[in-house]
Amino acid sequence: MPVTDPELVKIVQDRVFNVLICRKCGAHNPPGATKCRRCHSKDLRPKRKELAKVKAA
Ligand SMILES: [Zn+2]
Repeated sequence: MPVTDPELVKIVQDRVFNVLICRKCGAHNPPGATKCRRCHSKDLRPKRKELAKVKAA
């Protein structure tokens, strides 16, 4: 089911995209994490994307 409510889209955007992805193992980590919770690598990248790719429109 596509998300159509603009307020809901905003919340989903914050929840889904405000995470850190480990470059080593690909695990999701909470925002503000300094190292991966799975492999303890410090090589984390932020997952920040536009919502355009999500089927929200
Ligand atoms: Zn990792």
